[in-house]
Amino acid sequence: MELIRVNTKEIFTKTNLPGADYVINQYVGCEHNCAYCYAKFMSRWKKHGQWGTWVEAKMNAPELVKNKTVSGWVFMSSVSDAYQPIEKDLKLTRHVLENLDKRIKLSILTKSDLVLRDIDLLKQFKDSEIGLTINTFVGKEKDIFEPNSPSNQKRIEALKILKENGLKTYAFISPLIPGLIDLEKLIDETREFVDYYWLEVLNLRGAGKEFSNILETDYPKSFRILKKPDLFNQFINELKIICKKKGIKVRGFEEH
Ligand code: SF4
Repeated sequence: MELIRVNTKEIFTKTNLPGADYVINQYVGCEHNCAYCYAKFMSRWKKHGQWGTWVEAKMNAPELVKNKTVSGWVFMSSVSDAYQPIEKDLKLTRHVLENLDKRIKLSILTKSDLVLRDIDLLKQFKDSEIGLTINTFVGKEKDIFEPNSPSNQKRIEALKILKENGLKTYAFISPLIPGLIDLEKLIDETREFVDYYWLEVLNLRGAGKEFSNILETDYPKSFRILKKPDLFNQFINELKIICKKKGIKVRGFEEH
């Protein structure tokens, strides 16, 4: 993995992402290298090579957030994971959190239990929520779809520990792929320690041609359901029925 250290001018970026007013991307690029990653398009602009092989680190991000405040929700991060492996040594996210105005409303979404390292800082924010992306990929699917992120078990355990520490938590169940997700199981395993759920169905276009080809070849039934509107709508209805049956609080349900 190539680490590219850069400096930037601005660190709060206005966004139209649901539930957020600004994003902070102290990293661009992601070692987790999920096969369906919607942020892969960044490789077109950055010219550092294939997605997952490089990470750009904005080294002056901690300085830029100092003495600056914004109103509304700040989301971390949209084109990277703030707790990807490099963060363990670099501590860039940690330094950003140290310097951020603690009155900022902070929302973090990650696939890594490394977020637990920063519980001391997260507790200092007046308003914060921490989400872990979870799904039911194991074995072959985990290796192909999410090769470098911690296991789902670790992520679920992280949600539990965050809640035990008094933090607001949410489970981002994504990507929902017909036949490859067990929504009921995930809800049963997490409902005791998440404040709400956010569900996201796989966006075939956003996931890119390569991922689309994997699904079409190896998971043709799933692919067909995603492509055919009547089957897709039936899949969505089934998910909604499960949520209703389980009586969970769903803040967002992204269908594509
Ligand atoms: S963790 Fe998120 S940003 Fe990183 S590769 Fe996976 S989907 Fe993309």
